[in-house]
Amino acid sequence: MARKKFLMGNWKMNHTIAEAIRFCEDVKNDSLLKIARSKGVLLGVAPSFLSLQQVKRHAHGLIVASQDCHYEDHGAYTSSVSVPMLNEIGINWSIIGHSERRTYDNDTSFVCNRKIKTLVKNGFHVVYCVGETLKEYEEGLTKDIVKEQILVGLMNVSKEDISKIVIAYEPVWSIGTGKNASSEIAEDVCSYIRSLIEKLYGKVAASKILILYGGSVKPNNIHEYLLQENVDGALVGGASLKSESFKELLENI
Ligand code: PEP
Repeated sequence: MARKKFLMGNWKMNHTIAEAIRFCEDVKNDSLLKIARSKGVLLGVAPSFLSLQQVKRHAHGLIVASQDCHYEDHGAYTSSVSVPMLNEIGINWSIIGHSERRTYDNDTSFVCNRKIKTLVKNGFHVVYCVGETLKEYEEGLTKDIVKEQILVGLMNVSKEDISKIVIAYEPVWSIGTGKNASSEIAEDVCSYIRSLIEKLYGKVAASKILILYGGSVKPNNIHEYLLQENVDGALVGGASLKSESFKELLENI
């Protein structure tokens, strides 16, 4: 069975609540979900924690994800947000392991693993980000890095729960830089990720899991990524912020 396509916007630390609601209204007025359905595309956004509740309320069917969460349910972790807190406001998707969190907040693959296990235990879907830095890329270490991130990040995630995971391959050197990886690189690494999933979880899980590419995806280049056999969609930062550009991304899939 053909896999669905998935377009997810990561808003990072952008959009006030009012701006986020306006985006949702534009999505509704432009019938984006109707377009997405007709193309077999899942559509989602990941707003700031502060906007989640309002975006969920105005989402009109969009998948709404948090950009992170804590692995503990509660406790002395100033500024953190737990999975039960997200659950309470109707959120059941989360991005984990974005390179900005790995870089600025020391989210190692081990920390990501703890978060992923808490999320899937609570019935959440996870977009798990992996990818190498420029130095690692130049040293030819891409697949070693991605392998470590997959093996550690998914440690003790069961065969049943792997169906709740989406993997996003995001080379760090391409995020927000305008230097997007070629579609050949994206396909090579995404097919490698699928082969890792096959080794860990078997053929059926590997054939079903959605693997996204992320890194300077724009309306004018999304199509070439989505043409690749093992690229099932895109995780998009900058180009997902304006509803017009989000719409163009969708139209060009
Ligand atoms: C991202 O933040 O995950 C991302 C891919 O950003 P951008 O599209 O801006 O490179």
